[in-house]
Amino acid sequence: MNKHYEVIIIGAGPSGLGAALNLLKNGIKDILVIEQKEFPRYKCCAGYITNKTKKEYESLGLNINKCHYSLIKDFKIFYKYEEKQKIVNKFLFTNKNIDRIELDYEFYKLAKKKGIVILENTNIIRHNMNKNWIKINTQDTYTYDYLIFADGTTGYGSKYQKNKKRNIAMQLIEKTNRPDSIEIHFGVTKHGYGWVSTYKGTTNIGLTDVYNPKLNYNKIFKQYLKKLNIEGNTKNVKGAYTPIGIRKGLINKNIYYVGDAVGACDPLTLSGLRYGLYTGKICAKAISQKNNSIYKRSILKLKLKFIFMKLLLKIFYLKGILFLIFNVGCRLFNKLIAYVFNHFFINKK
Ligand SMILES: Cc1cc2nc3c(=O)[nH]c(=O)nc-3n(C[C@H](O)[C@H](O)[C@H](O)COP(=O)(O)OP(=O)(O)OC[C@H]3O[C@@H](n4cnc5c(N)ncnc54)[C@H](O)[C@@H]3O)c2cc1C
Repeated sequence: MNKHYEVIIIGAGPSGLGAALNLLKNGIKDILVIEQKEFPRYKCCAGYITNKTKKEYESLGLNINKCHYSLIKDFKIFYKYEEKQKIVNKFLFTNKNIDRIELDYEFYKLAKKKGIVILENTNIIRHNMNKNWIKINTQDTYTYDYLIFADGTTGYGSKYQKNKKRNIAMQLIEKTNRPDSIEIHFGVTKHGYGWVSTYKGTTNIGLTDVYNPKLNYNKIFKQYLKKLNIEGNTKNVKGAYTPIGIRKGLINKNIYYVGDAVGACDPLTLSGLRYGLYTGKICAKAISQKNNSIYKRSILKLKLKFIFMKLLLKIFYLKGILFLIFNVGCRLFNKLIAYVFNHFFINKK
């Protein structure tokens, strides 16, 4: 089969479907989405969302209440397994299974309901960027006016990008009898943190670090579980990379990158859903207005923002700074730390 679409999107995650729904809103209906998995599908992610992310989803017509989100107020910060501070969480919402399956499935159902064509179990296997066509695993070929790579940090689109530093993030979801709470553990990895979130008997234990190929992260994860006294089946630990820094956003004037594929994930907090939806939206706007500068300007702004976050990441994880924050700051300026945490690191994301 050889068919033409105005826009082809690779990847049906939040950034890909966000782009599709925004294109539809802007009057472009001739869209094909290609997804390698079948929904409902697992995506390695804790699925936390902020108020802003919630609003972004709602603006596209998603009824977020269907996805069973709640606010766990009890938020604790640890350094080297010692509790340093309690914060009343005001803006970070958790899904009942502390994962992304339900959120992505509802988003997928919404896109389907609106008439977006999504080919599941489908992989892009060849691409000719000069002749504007792609070939998929069924050997069908599709031509396009615009192509959007929304296929994550290591998808097909990443072959046109320079290798950049990445974060690794791993998680394990287990049934436990821990009380409802969100714990953030610093000092578990060198340039990252661990988390333990429990909601009604479901616990998501995870950690992240700036990826260092010399480290054995499975071993680090096992040690982490042991320290936390959590007995978990480490065979079920899942991991994925998240980007550090914005990548090239546009190639050939008609090939765009959105979400993790363009690096739109906060390198310090791993907040990626909102930026995925945001880059999907600006990409759709640029395509529908045939004006690439809209997209380029916004990506540049994001780049500057993430350079700042990258710098914070470097400074924050210096040993002396960690010591000062957790042994002096948390004691003397705990209200200020709680405010900065709630407002700068969460509510603004
Ligand atoms: C452990 C972990 C925890 C995280 N926790 C959070 C959190 O709590 N909150 C938050 O906001 N962010 C979190 N993130 C970041 C967040 O998961 C990402 O930023 C977000 O998923 C990016 O969305 P996306 O649509 O760009 O990519 P994805 O969600 O990765 O979607 C890409 C899609 O493309 C498909 N695909 C890939 N390759 C191909 C191909 N060749 N052909 C067809 N389809 C393809 C994939 O199957 C997938 O469905 C976390 C990340 C990790 C790893």
